[in-house]
Amino acid sequence: MRTSDVWQGWTDLEKRLEFMAGLERRTKCQSCKLAAFCTGGCPAVNLYMTGNIYEPTTTDCHITAVYISLLHRKEKAVKAGAN
Ligand code: SF4
Repeated sequence: MRTSDVWQGWTDLEKRLEFMAGLERRTKCQSCKLAAFCTGGCPAVNLYMTGNIYEPTTTDCHITAVYISLLHRKEKAVKAGAN
């Protein structure tokens, strides 16, 4: 399922949306508290690293958790009036 290209971005939006909407296929994501903020990793990386486009790597999940934590921290700072 090719959905994108490193140089051109998303080349098949319909397939990309199918991947993003496929939470029932992303079993690891179903119980993840970050699922509302995350689209399940890069399909190509998932396939290369885990053998399944719907199975994200643990490393990607940790990176997502750090990004979201930083975003929440920034959001709190903005609400508190800091820059
Ligand atoms: S952090 Fe990992 S398990 Fe959680 S929704 Fe994202 S890809 Fe899925």
